[in-house]
Amino acid sequence: MKLDVNKQYSGFVIRQAAYIDEIQSEAYVMEHTYSGARLLYLGNNDDNKVFSISFRTPPYDDTGVAHILEHSVLCGSRKYRLKEPFVELVKGSMNTFLNAMTYPDKTMYPVASRNAKDFQNLMDVYLDAVFYPLIYENPYTLRQEGWHYNIEAPTDALSYNGVVYNEMKGLFSSADALLDYEAMKALFPDTPYSFESGGHPDAIPELTQEAFEHFHTTYYSPENSFIYLYGDMDIETTLQYLNDEYLSGFKRTGAVNSEIPLQNAFARTQEVLGTYPVGADEATEDKTYHELHIVTGDARDVKTSMALRVLESVLLEGNSAPLRLALLQSGVAKDISGSYAGNYRQPIFSIKAAGSKPEQRDKFISIIYHTL
Ligand SMILES: [Zn+2]
Repeated sequence: MKLDVNKQYSGFVIRQAAYIDEIQSEAYVMEHTYSGARLLYLGNNDDNKVFSISFRTPPYDDTGVAHILEHSVLCGSRKYRLKEPFVELVKGSMNTFLNAMTYPDKTMYPVASRNAKDFQNLMDVYLDAVFYPLIYENPYTLRQEGWHYNIEAPTDALSYNGVVYNEMKGLFSSADALLDYEAMKALFPDTPYSFESGGHPDAIPELTQEAFEHFHTTYYSPENSFIYLYGDMDIETTLQYLNDEYLSGFKRTGAVNSEIPLQNAFARTQEVLGTYPVGADEATEDKTYHELHIVTGDARDVKTSMALRVLESVLLEGNSAPLRLALLQSGVAKDISGSYAGNYRQPIFSIKAAGSKPEQRDKFISIIYHTL
């Protein structure tokens, strides 16, 4: 079944169509004109069908509201009034993939199945969850998934508890997480990337029910969504279903601003010093980390982004990678690694040394620039 450019299908206008040889798929970029939802469909004969709905969810604080919301919408919705519809659903489902993830700038709900009926059910549970969660009528959702006060006995001190609170407390006990947190704050001080979308344990208890609801109302609307469909399906029936059951209920307002602003370059390299906790009886010898992070332009510059990804691999991955080798041979640190984070609006090229000493700082920097 081929769809025609500029033609309407159940409220969707086909904006662009192209055959992509490498993945043997007809690609269609569509827009649901009434709600403003954007949709990408890759049509092919793969029976492993994929549905995903994503929202741009740039955070404006460290309360982890995006992450807590991701957990919470899966705790029951208008049509599926169970405590944990997903746990129930997975039991009887033939899905090949089902998950939800929070990124520093977006939240995704992808699912895949080879069975058409199962696929339809999963899609419906996800759509009902994101657009009609029970978080408004049930304030215990935030308390359970986010944070609440906890006390075991009247004489005990009051403490915090909550699914995401505990998850992030665990994560932030590692030096890696603290390093990433400090690095992002330093690299992007003027953008949402300076905030921890997962939530910082110290800030999570500042999240109120009002701010939680506001975040959902603002960002979980079709006009702020990106829908993805892939595989062998009756696309016209699927589009009609999306329109009739969900999208036709939301009129585009034009008021959602979720654009990720660009961070301006600094006049000179910034230096940040941080600390992390170790056990009281643990030695601190060789426990210093040195990292150099470079913001490298715009992720939508696909060619440069691909080139930097290759360059990172050549310079820093594997035993004979020249930059990694030079740093290891100089003895600045026990372990050297690199990364290229291309999924931010402004990608980050990083060179990392672990198991080092504070006084190796100058050598770490000079070997990098000398070798390059
Ligand atoms: Zn989580």
